[in-house]
Amino acid sequence: MDGPGSQSQTPAQAPKTCPSAPPEVGSVLLGVVTAPGQVAYLNPHPPVTPRLLEALAGKGAPVENRVRFACQCAEGGCVQWKDEAGSGRCGLIDHALEALAITEAPRTLPRCGIRNTCRWYAQHGANACGACPEVIRRPERD
Ligand code: SF4
Repeated sequence: MDGPGSQSQTPAQAPKTCPSAPPEVGSVLLGVVTAPGQVAYLNPHPPVTPRLLEALAGKGAPVENRVRFACQCAEGGCVQWKDEAGSGRCGLIDHALEALAITEAPRTLPRCGIRNTCRWYAQHGANACGACPEVIRRPERD
């Protein structure tokens, strides 16, 4: 997951980035969860390596609850993808905005480093950034 795709693509066509990726090689580190609903975003975002995963493992709560990762959006290959007659979208951010009743953008946007390709930002603009820090890939109830 290196960037927005080839130079010949328009921003709308470029591959999108998922801000709720699994902790695996191929993902990058998006940020660190510092408290419930708070993420310290990393910019630039380091690639995930086996060594990094090893360092993050075994510290109590699952790594997905403590660290956020990003990777290229898998679109139809992801369980969260909602296909609407050829114009699919990520259902996770739709649901998060609805559940959190977010209808406005935060005054200040996090410096997350993936905004130009972020799937959630592409769907909801800055409103998505209000919900983003609240999203935990593997909630405690799992
Ligand atoms: S939703 Fe906003 S803060 Fe979260 S990764 Fe996308 S652009 Fe960054």
